[in-house]
Amino acid sequence: KKPIVAIVGRPNVGKSTLFNALAKQRIAIVKDTPGITRDRIYADVTWLDKAFTLIDTGGIEPDSRDIILSQMREQAQIAIDTADVILFMVDVKQGMVDADAKVADMLRRSHKPVILVVNKVDNFDKYMADTYEFYNLGIGDPHPISASGRLGIGDMLDVLVSYF
Ligand code: GDP
Ligand code: MG
Repeated sequence: KKPIVAIVGRPNVGKSTLFNALAKQRIAIVKDTPGITRDRIYADVTWLDKAFTLIDTGGIEPDSRDIILSQMREQAQIAIDTADVILFMVDVKQGMVDADAKVADMLRRSHKPVILVVNKVDNFDKYMADTYEFYNLGIGDPHPISASGRLGIGDMLDVLVSYF
């Protein structure tokens, strides 16, 4: 069976932008709850000779009591439980926030391999130093990418497929 990879992180960090960049074809959009339109999206992805199933998630706001946000968090937890490897995305432009640390705690409890992806590093020379604060999440090395600028994605995928 193909490995399953889930992209998780707070809303707006760029998860769907990465998903869309990697997805050659969308195979399913799951809409099992009204109001949750972006809860789980699956795509078949191939990198080098490795194939995997990628899951996009709506995002995790750890403390929100908002019904939609708590349903998104539940869906993300299902994706985490389903995944073999997790891409944990954070946003270099926002920097490390408390919610990132809480998501990191959730991921540690999963005992699954987690790759820390620092997105929106649109210029590696300018912003690389800003990625180092994410070492404080205690989740390992930050892997800088620009999902919209298509930078660093190949190097990040090399690290990802090394877990299969
Ligand atoms: P999601 O909520 O995590 O799925 O985030 P989206 O993929 O919807 O992206 C949120 C916003 O961040 C959108 O306006 C994207 O265009 C923007 N974005 C995504 N990737 C990048 C990036 O690499 N650099 C910059 N500057 N913006 C990005
Ligand atoms: Mg999204």
